[in-house]
Amino acid sequence: MRDYEGERKRMVDHQIRHRGICDRRVLAALEKVPRHRFLPEPNDPAAYNDYPLPIGDGQTISQPYMVALMTECLNLKGDERVLEIGTGSGYQAAILAELSRRVITIERFAALADRARGALAELGYHNIEVLVGDGSLGYPKAAPYDAVIVTAAAPEVARPWVDQLTERGRLVVPLGDRWGQHLTVVTKRGDKLDYQSVCGCVFVPLVGELGWDPE
Ligand code: SAM
Repeated sequence: MRDYEGERKRMVDHQIRHRGICDRRVLAALEKVPRHRFLPEPNDPAAYNDYPLPIGDGQTISQPYMVALMTECLNLKGDERVLEIGTGSGYQAAILAELSRRVITIERFAALADRARGALAELGYHNIEVLVGDGSLGYPKAAPYDAVIVTAAAPEVARPWVDQLTERGRLVVPLGDRWGQHLTVVTKRGDKLDYQSVCGCVFVPLVGELGWDPE
């Protein structure tokens, strides 16, 4: 039988801790959440490999390291309300749910949202709500959020994300063009926004009213 737990331990040691992620809660969440259960084919031998994988509708589940890095950037302590834009497989949402109180996640493709909802329910997550819609507009109904994470490439910081953040809230978002972006942490301080660039990255585009047009 396949040793998924061992694969996760090796993934965390070699791909995550080794590259400098040191938030113990983030490392524990990555070690706990069964990434393979979020793939279209759970037996996929590449489930714990060091790269993104296709999940259907031309979309991807992000590389494990990128999930860890973006999560660490949010600096979650356990009591936050988090908004995720781009549910995809639901894997990132599960990691967030391990580290915060409530997660609202929005996906543009209904089929992906349905599958993510199923995987999250099977694993017993009760603090995640999966919605279908255009996350470029955020989700004002459940605002404010202590943290917003955008897992698709955005041309700029969409105003609704900032408006829906709490004071000192954090937004993590890949900013750039369709082919390359900078992972950016934006912190809300009164009327001001602090920008911190973390590293280069490549994400699928955020498609929507305040994102890119569909190709
Ligand atoms: N977080 C995901 C996971 O854990 O599997 C990976 C996300 S994938 C890299 C980006 C996702 O963003 C895709 O599923 C895509 O359909 C979605 N997306 C793109 N534009 C969107 C929008 N305006 N609103 C909501 N989701 C969007």
